[in-house]
Amino acid sequence: MTDWTRRQVGGLIAGTLLAATAPHVARGIVRPKVVVIGGGIGGATLARYLGDMKTMDVSLVEPNATHVTCFFSNLHLAGLRSLASLTFDLRTLANRHGVSVIRDAAVALDPAARVVELGGGAKLPYDRLAVAPGITLEFGAIGGYDEAAAERMPHAWIAGPQSVLLRRQLESMEDGGLFVIVAPPNPFRCPPAPYERASLVAYYFKQFKPRSKILILDAKDKFSGQELFQDAWSRHYPGMIEWLPAQFIGKIKAVDPAAFSVVTEGQTFKAAVANVIPPQKAGLIAQKAGLADATGWCPVDPATFDSTLQPGIHVVGDAIIGGDMPKSAFSANSQAKACAFAIAAALTGSPRFPPHLFNSCYTFLAPDDAFTNAITFAAEDGKIKTKEMFINKVGESAEVRRKVAHQAIGWYSAFTADVFGGAS
Ligand SMILES: Cc1cc2nc3c(=O)[nH]c(=O)nc-3n(C[C@H](O)[C@H](O)[C@H](O)COP(=O)(O)OP(=O)(O)OC[C@H]3O[C@@H](n4cnc5c(N)ncnc54)[C@H](O)[C@@H]3O)c2cc1C
Repeated sequence: MTDWTRRQVGGLIAGTLLAATAPHVARGIVRPKVVVIGGGIGGATLARYLGDMKTMDVSLVEPNATHVTCFFSNLHLAGLRSLASLTFDLRTLANRHGVSVIRDAAVALDPAARVVELGGGAKLPYDRLAVAPGITLEFGAIGGYDEAAAERMPHAWIAGPQSVLLRRQLESMEDGGLFVIVAPPNPFRCPPAPYERASLVAYYFKQFKPRSKILILDAKDKFSGQELFQDAWSRHYPGMIEWLPAQFIGKIKAVDPAAFSVVTEGQTFKAAVANVIPPQKAGLIAQKAGLADATGWCPVDPATFDSTLQPGIHVVGDAIIGGDMPKSAFSANSQAKACAFAIAAALTGSPRFPPHLFNSCYTFLAPDDAFTNAITFAAEDGKIKTKEMFINKVGESAEVRRKVAHQAIGWYSAFTADVFGGAS
């Protein structure tokens, strides 16, 4: 007869309970395998939260060893933040959160065999796949603007060497020069960011090159936070920033990198430094894998972030069609958390939670003047819809805005620790 000790019985009960919530794990088969493609904001958050659950084997595929945040990279352009202070080592996800970080790029997906093929030739099997590849810049959408042209007229829309290049060009620009920003059509990564860039570069010019000017050639007729920006430009940088909407300039047709010029339907603008931000689509791997529709972006079920085109593959971050949710780091982080719970529910039987979707962005108008918005969303009728929204207003006191700028610094530390793994 078996002599059951108290410890064995306790272990059996614990095992039974675990079996109810995590069947694969408890039956000693194998832990479910989740592969996450892309170690930026969405992918790193997702891998970190899945890793912390300790019930799945989580692999993160990312070609870069570190991630440089786009948010706060406009502060770098103004000389207010080093690139090193915006750079995060993905090894923290391995060391503290049990994620296998694989330094490679995904080149093909095989949903039928449930395998991801990597550039180095390895094949990674998965039970569940999540894709967070961010954006592809549409080189060629503006005539003459290709990767080589971006070495002379940087986009600086994926932070890293491009941000350093643009900063260097601004530093070596003569006082009195014209800095041209080409702003992209909707939808694109971080709607207020081109205008935050104009504001912070204007701050830099005001200190060091006060005769210089900034011209924004826009593919749109209006932009996010327009009233707040235009109010700040007249208060902080009168006469320095000019914004020309699509209705005045027509289509942005071409660039000439040799001449530093931008050609619109009616006119050619010659710059001392040109920042060309091209139109955007979902990261290439999402397009190649049939996760993107005719718009170039990925439709998803907003409750689980499961692709509606390739069920069983989740997509989060800038690559998705996010309804009312803007393409922002905060959105990507919020989506990734909802997605982590949906994956855990599907693979381990853990409870399902309704998604809590939230976005909060801090935008600098000057180092001590920032505005924020905070928006809650709900998944309704297959779409993400705005529920409640707060945004700062024109006419607030300098003290209110100084406090927001101060909060933004604290937000950056807490948010990046949440994404890339800090104390858990
Ligand atoms: C100037 C600027 C300022 C911004 N400011 C803010 C802000 O203040 N607040 C805010 O919330 N957001 C801000 N954003 C937006 C924010 O940076 C993005 O929304 C966010 O990075 C999106 O996260 P993501 O995971 O979708 O993409 P990313 O963070 O770009 O990550 C995508 C990752 O996928 C990897 N990848 C791509 N293809 C593959 C592949 N085939 N295999 C493996 N890996 C792959 C890439 O290398 C990359 O690391 C700003 C953006 C810019 C440009």
